Amino acid sequence: MYRIGIGYDIHQLIEGRDLIIGGIKITHEKGLLGHSDADVLIHAMIDAILGALALDDIGTLFPDTDPKYKNIDSTALLKHVFNLVKEKGYSVVNIDSNIIAQAPKMMPYIPKMKDILCKILEISHDDVSIKAKTKEKMDAVGQNLAIEANAVVLLQKS
Ligand SMILES: [Zn+2]
Repeated sequence: MYRIGIGYDIHQLIEGRDLIIGGIKITHEKGLLGHSDADVLIHAMIDAILGALALDDIGTLFPDTDPKYKNIDSTALLKHVFNLVKEKGYSVVNIDSNIIAQAPKMMPYIPKMKDILCKILEISHDDVSIKAKTKEKMDAVGQNLAIEANAVVLLQKS
């Protein structure tokens, strides 16, 4: 049996924060604002996985009012969610995703992001797609005020 899920996230870009996307620290003059490390890609993937299992969403599972999650590494949250997948008897078939950012260029970082994600989710590079898009300078993302991510995941009963 297969289950599919969709995830979306957006975080505001501000000065004085590290830019962490896909578990990687990216060199940039701004970072994403959030209670956790604000890893927009991992958050979208987590919501896709939770959606596939029809579980509570990321904000319900890891409330931003809980000091326990302050500046937490989102890879730890992804590990927690992958354990829920395994507990329910599922494995990940594949993930497709977009990072939508006007700047910086994401492409050089994508292979390392895949290394991190594949290790956590027990899949290979062939099973993860991370695409980098811009907003053609339009809207908040295009004006360098925010970064967005989308993810779709397919799970299989193992
Ligand atoms: Zn988020």
